[in-house]
Amino acid sequence: MAGRIPSAFIDELLNRVDIVEVIDTRVPLKKAGKEYTACCPFHNEKTPSFTVSPTKQFYHCFGCKASGSAITFLMEYDHLEFVEAVEELAKMLGIEVPREQGVAASPAQKQAKSNAYDLLAACDRYYRQQLRQHPKASLAVDYLKGRGLSGEIAARYNLGYAPPGNNLQLAMGQGTTDALVTQGMLIRKDDGQTYDRFRHRIMFPIRDGRGRVIAFGGRVMSADDSPKYLNSPETPLFHKGSELYGLYEVRQAQRHIDRLLVVEGYMDVIALAQQGIDYAVATLGTACTAEHVQKLFRLCNDVVFCFDGDRAGREAAWRAMENTLPVLQGTQTIRFLFLPEGEDPDSLVRQIGKVEFEQRIEQAQSLSQFFFASLRSGISRQDLEAHRTLIDRARPYLQKMSDQAYQALLIQDLAGYTQQDERALYPLLGLAAASRQAKTVYPANKQGNLPPSLVRTAIACLLHHPALANLVADPQSLSQIDQPGIGLLIDLLENMKSNPTLTTAAILERWRNTREGPHLEKLATWQPSLNDPESLQHEFIGAIERIQDQHRSARTQSLLAKSKADGLTGEEKSELQRLLNRSIQTGPLQG
Ligand SMILES: [Zn+2]
Repeated sequence: MAGRIPSAFIDELLNRVDIVEVIDTRVPLKKAGKEYTACCPFHNEKTPSFTVSPTKQFYHCFGCKASGSAITFLMEYDHLEFVEAVEELAKMLGIEVPREQGVAASPAQKQAKSNAYDLLAACDRYYRQQLRQHPKASLAVDYLKGRGLSGEIAARYNLGYAPPGNNLQLAMGQGTTDALVTQGMLIRKDDGQTYDRFRHRIMFPIRDGRGRVIAFGGRVMSADDSPKYLNSPETPLFHKGSELYGLYEVRQAQRHIDRLLVVEGYMDVIALAQQGIDYAVATLGTACTAEHVQKLFRLCNDVVFCFDGDRAGREAAWRAMENTLPVLQGTQTIRFLFLPEGEDPDSLVRQIGKVEFEQRIEQAQSLSQFFFASLRSGISRQDLEAHRTLIDRARPYLQKMSDQAYQALLIQDLAGYTQQDERALYPLLGLAAASRQAKTVYPANKQGNLPPSLVRTAIACLLHHPALANLVADPQSLSQIDQPGIGLLIDLLENMKSNPTLTTAAILERWRNTREGPHLEKLATWQPSLNDPESLQHEFIGAIERIQDQHRSARTQSLLAKSKADGLTGEEKSELQRLLNRSIQTGPLQG
């Protein structure tokens, strides 16, 4: 495993890279005052509401609320993973991405890894060449043609052919044996001899997010041969539980991915693409994991799982759902498409074509329909006992959900099935009442126009102009104040004071993947009525002073109340004295 990327490197990267340049090469920008604008690449619009700030190194769309750093932009626009986006920016600057000590790769390991990519790329070239040249390849070509696949599709997915017998070592040359064994391409027997893992099979290269071959799948051509499908084993480059076949190709084919269809085999992906359904991906001989699902949801919000209608298919669907429930958020939807018995997507799409197949996708079962249909199987009665059984069955799944809005929707449906009041279900499910607001760092902000609270105002000002942090001599002096978000404010102040060159974007990166991250991003897009540095400073100082005033008056009230009730200790008396005299005291603000 590669080590973590040090956060100091992310700071440096965002300091050196220019977000205007990164975006401009993909979405041409126009200068408008201090900022740059364009029509938003993330939603359809005619007048530009997408702005890029060179000082904050941050982009923001007023229409769809997309926002973030250069890293976020590459993740969203180029559909990259976080690490891939960082590597891409580092490549632009011509620098290496360092990894933290301990688990960091040694130069030799790094070399081995890049050699491994080269080696698999060479295997890929070899298999493709064999598909064109090998005397036995006509069987493979006939098979593909028989499936209605064009040369263009075969080329898009880099299909190849592994000839019978042992060829790979010879083809790859001297000194590659160990590496080929490590990558799962050769199998070593007890006597030390090796043989090809893939023999007389159609070869499907499996590519990572950057298009590099990391593994292979192979399919037999005759029903007599087995196993029908064979994949590379787990290797240093290939982890089944996180890779999806066809994802790279979907990203190549589509700028905006509206929907992803998850199927079970590579032939399904390719047959669907041949018919114009070029948004299918396949898991690689494993159930769909939470990691898979998160990867899918990073690309789009609409995921449809396609399974065989038989018992095995329904069980696989249920496992996929179990893995999805805990990670499902907000506007994401999953649906389930079950095919008629005996059909797979490959056979069905060839029979009925794109239009009818997509109609079936439209009619796929919703999460709730599938969830309750499965849970209710075997419950035929409509009495109290049956209702209790359904509640018992639903409980563990509902408890695992992290998104309360989603949970509430399913509970609403459960209320319908059990003829119960929704509110009465919460305690039966061992859940806190529905009316409870999701706990956030800030008080609820319904209008969306930030920020009404003082702490929020202070944070928003800081994000707009990080240099304001220098006005607070000792952030820790705020630590006794009991207000939502005060801990975050202190953290921000300390980060900014110790790293005065951090831009807004770099600060947001430090909070990526934290509970506070999304709040900070929203506050960074707040539009103050006046945003020149002087007005911001005025607003910031005002907010900090009022936070302290509120704290002092609350403390004064509580000490006064205590003095009436059970009297004050000596220490409390002098504190109260200080508070009552406080108009001449200085707080943590300098100057
Ligand atoms: Zn937008």
